[in-house]
Amino acid sequence: IKQPMPLLKIQNLTLHFGGLRAIDGLDFNLYKNEILSIIGPNGAGKSTLFNVISGIYKSDQGRIIYKAQDISTLKPHMVAKAGIARTFQNLRLFNDLSVIENIKVSRFCRTKAFFPAVILNLKSNQREEKETGEKVRTILDMFGKRLTGYRYNQKVSQLSYANRRRVEIARAMATDPEILLLDEPSAGMNPQETEEITGFIKTLRDQFGYTILVIEHKLNLVKAVSDRVIVMDYGKKICEGSYEDISRNPLVIEAYLGK
Ligand code: ADP
Ligand code: MG
Repeated sequence: IKQPMPLLKIQNLTLHFGGLRAIDGLDFNLYKNEILSIIGPNGAGKSTLFNVISGIYKSDQGRIIYKAQDISTLKPHMVAKAGIARTFQNLRLFNDLSVIENIKVSRFCRTKAFFPAVILNLKSNQREEKETGEKVRTILDMFGKRLTGYRYNQKVSQLSYANRRRVEIARAMATDPEILLLDEPSAGMNPQETEEITGFIKTLRDQFGYTILVIEHKLNLVKAVSDRVIVMDYGKKICEGSYEDISRNPLVIEAYLGK
């Protein structure tokens, strides 16, 4: 059987912070339409991996191939433009802007709108403005009763923590990505909110067709959404496989589940 082409190929990726190898010779593939989870203890290098893929940090070694293009030297806005969007473990929203404004700002990599014009609400191009408005509402409406219309013009600082996490995902979706990188999407959520976001992540793949790489600590979520799981420790991949496979692996139990 011929293996399908990976959508994203990580090859021998390495990044040091001084003497610390935060990522150490990492190799893995992400295939189109899959949900691949990355788990591992705190400090394993998971968020750093997202920072390297999204162009925030530059690797010391290795390659990141996205659809036959080496994207490892691209700046963050070019990675977004290429089709890879991310959320942050520590939310990075503009707290003094409204929900809608936060999402419009991230959309600017797809429109010709001048960044300050988005914030100042200058209507530079009416057709584009209308399209953006519709797009943003469509994305936000997906969160249903949790993030309903009257909240769209509220400042992010007025939202619950769970809703801020939802806006963070909406913000990533607004760049029209093919790949979504979600860094601990359920962090700070209660069990009910975690269950909802679990279903939502599956919807993002099943109905919206995103390919998803997700970092998570909550194993119920990982078990429910993942086609495959990669376990990292000390910047390295210690194993890879189905949730059932990795949860039986003694290396994983030692590195992660046993801690
Ligand atoms: P994880 O997300 O798996 O918990 P991180 O990727 O955040 O881990 O961090 C991996 C390691 O790299 C940790 O030891 C962390 O302290 C270190 N690290 C992360 N970012 C930086 C940075 N900007 N400067 C120095 N060290 C960093
Ligand atoms: Mg992290």
